[in-house]
Parts: sequence; C-alpha cells; structure tokens
Amino acid sequence: MLIELDQNASFEEIEELIERLTAMRFHVVRQGSHRLALVSGVDKLVIIEDFKYLPHVISIKPLKSKFKLASRESKQEDTIIEIKDTKIGGRELFVIAGPCSIESRDQLVACAKIAKQYGANALRGGAYKPRTSPYDFQGMGPEGVKLISEVANEYGLLSVTEVMDMNQLDDVVPYIDIIQIGARNAQNYSLLKELGKLNTPILLKRGFATTYQELLMAAEYIMVGGNHNVILCERGIRTFETYTRNTLDLNAVPALQELTHLPVMVDPSHGTGVRSLVPVMARAGIAAGASGVLVEMHPNPDKSVSDAMQALSFDTFGQMMSELKQVNQLIKSFEK
Ligand code: PEP
Ligand code: MN
Repeated sequence: MLIELDQNASFEEIEELIERLTAMRFHVVRQGSHRLALVSGVDKLVIIEDFKYLPHVISIKPLKSKFKLASRESKQEDTIIEIKDTKIGGRELFVIAGPCSIESRDQLVACAKIAKQYGANALRGGAYKPRTSPYDFQGMGPEGVKLISEVANEYGLLSVTEVMDMNQLDDVVPYIDIIQIGARNAQNYSLLKELGKLNTPILLKRGFATTYQELLMAAEYIMVGGNHNVILCERGIRTFETYTRNTLDLNAVPALQELTHLPVMVDPSHGTGVRSLVPVMARAGIAAGASGVLVEMHPNPDKSVSDAMQALSFDTFGQMMSELKQVNQLIKSFEK
C-alpha cells in the first residue's frame, strides 16, 4: 500500500506516523520525502478507509506489484545512487572497468590508470572468483580486496568486487564501495538478506536463467532489509546459441526500466564472452537506455587468468569509451 502525505508534514511528524504504523505491525518504508510504502502486515482485514484518518495522509492506494519497493509503481522517479562524487542512474554514464580477477598490484595499477584516463568511474576486479572448475584460480581473497581498495583510492575511482558468501562480508565491507553479487548468487536469499543490513551499494547481476520478475524480487530481498542502494545488471542469459558465451538480453534494459526505478546497467563482457563483440554491445546497451556498463580489460588480455577471451586491450577500451560518451549524449538529446 502506498500512502501519500501532504507536503507540510515535517520530518518528525512523518517519523511519528511511521512509529505508529510500525506499532500496528506494519513494515513501513519511506519512498521519497512524503511517501510511505507499507510492504507487509497488510492483509485483507485492513480497511484502507481507516488510514485516511491518520495525520497528513492525503491519499492511499494499493500496490499491485509483487516487488513493492523496487517497482516504478511505488516510486516514479529514477533512483540516483550517489557514492562520493559519482552519480549512478538516469542518463549519467557510469562505467565499471577492470580485470576479471585481481592478479597483482601492477595489473590493477595498469588498469586503474587507463580507466581513469578514459573517464571510467570504478575499478572492478574479483578477489573471490566463482569458477566453474574447482581446479581453476579461485582469487586472491582478502589480500586482493585490500589491493583493489588501495589502488582504486589512489586513482580516484570507486572499487567494485564480488562477494560469493556472507562469510566474506567482514573482509569486504570496510574496504569496498560497491559489492557485486554475481549471476550464480542472484537468488541466494540468505546472502541477499545479509546485504539488506548493509549501507554499501549492491551491484546485483541477473542469473543465467532468471526472469525480470525474479531479478526484481531478488532486489526486493535486499531493499526490504533497509538497503535501497541496488543497481541491476543485465549480464547475458543462457540460450541455445553457442557462438557467444551468453546472450546479452537487451530487452531487459527498457523492460526493467518500465518495471523499476532502480539503475540498470549492462555487462557486455559476460554477455558475449567474445572480445570483438564487447564494444559494439556496450554501445547497444547505452543506446537501449542503460545507465552504464561493466567491462573487463587487462594489460595483456590473452594472459588474463580468467575470462581471457572477453578481456579488452587498453586501446580497444579507450576507443570504446569515446564511442560510449557520444552514444550517451545522443540518447540524452532524444530524452529531452
Ligand atoms: C564477473 O563479473 O567476473 C562474473 C563472474 O560475473 P557473472 O556473475 O555475471 O558471471
Ligand atoms: Mn569475469
């Protein structure tokens, strides 16, 4: 249920109202300065009319979406997540770039220099790697987390790394600006519930076989816990095609933007798995309306310890960045 309050209601008055509703065993969440969402505790016994008599209430309507907090229905305006000086969401171009796996300080420094030089916002790199084979490199662990945090700070970039398990949170939360939840964990509900208790923004990737609704319900698990800083990422789904590693589902971008106010990004690196296809699909993602891209790059792409086939060279990355800025400007001009 969505409750609109009049603009004269002060912050304290709204807090008082929230306390009152909470005492009535509703789960209440602020959705904007003068809007409240009641996301649970609302059953058939509740008579909407009764709420009209609460102070400052001007309108009440039921929320039809299953994803109460993530839905456009509950919040019309795009969510813009601000981290340090960076804005994520809407038509701000947000670029996360870096290696698949953190391999060494030198490798990260080389990537950070190039990322900064061409205008990317965040440095990525996996310290805990979800590898298909247990015999493959599993990541540098906590040492890698500290390295990426230091290098990103040195170059004025945000740091992004993946967490696979809630036991890794203590090693990651103090150091990292954005926590990535990978495709394999998109529906790990106990992990999602733990993320709800944090303030750290979460980059939530779509699973290989996750529907839009399932992805949004996964975001809802994080949001209902209190963490509303969720960025969605389309990273390709499994189809019958084998030429590409996955099929980047560009329908997801406008479709999710109809359904949710949360920022939506694309990852053409995992979405194609093919180096030559990454820049064009990054452009296509921005043209489809995505708020940003995540791409993998490496100082020596063929030597990358993981996902070598999709790693961009620095030259290709630089060229891609200049194209993305142009595409973003053009799309911006259409939306005016
Ligand atoms: C990654 O970003 O390196 C990664 C493992 O992504 P995904 O979870 O989308 O496969
Ligand atoms: Mn990867």
